[in-house]
Amino acid sequence: RPTVGILALQGGVAEHAAMLETLGARVVPVRTEGALTESSLDGLVLPGGESSTVDRLLRRFQLRDPLVEMLAEGLPVLGTCAGMILLAEQIVDPAPGQQSLAVVPISVQRNAFGPQADSATEMLETTLGPVNAAFIRAPAVVSAGDGVAVVARRGTDVAGDGPIVGVATDQAVALSFHPELTGDVTFHHEFLDRL
Ligand code: GLN
Repeated sequence: RPTVGILALQGGVAEHAAMLETLGARVVPVRTEGALTESSLDGLVLPGGESSTVDRLLRRFQLRDPLVEMLAEGLPVLGTCAGMILLAEQIVDPAPGQQSLAVVPISVQRNAFGPQADSATEMLETTLGPVNAAFIRAPAVVSAGDGVAVVARRGTDVAGDGPIVGVATDQAVALSFHPELTGDVTFHHEFLDRL
């Protein structure tokens, strides 16, 4: 069974862990360089939270450089919400000094749906079928480069013109929303299947 790390510096770690364990994965919370590099991880989850805080903590805990290296070597990764922002090559409106890990050639806008969208839960028509998704101060993808597949838009199916809220590359899946908060295992299941 696959071993999946969850970056556990801040944010919604427990829900991802519970879902991955339900699906049969061995879960390793990652707070140290050792946990990252010595756990034989098959994949990594970057949870939601506050991307600028996680970015700061990554550097404070000296996790950023080893993480960038493992991602450059191709470690499969699933990021939700703040995790999507961390994966993005470009943040349109970063917090002062905020950096990303630049794994997926997308540009993201933080808090793209405004405060009225707080805690909205809705069904999305994704490439994997209908998915129950929670949006909490969610980012949107404002542009996507080569090799990036759109897997979900908000309010329309992927062929429509709704804002892009899910993308995938060969290595990474980045979602604006939180399937782990609604108990929808679709994307986690697909992620584990590919490990
Ligand atoms: N708005 C947050 C950020 O900029 C993300 C919110 C979330 O992860 N639920 O990081």
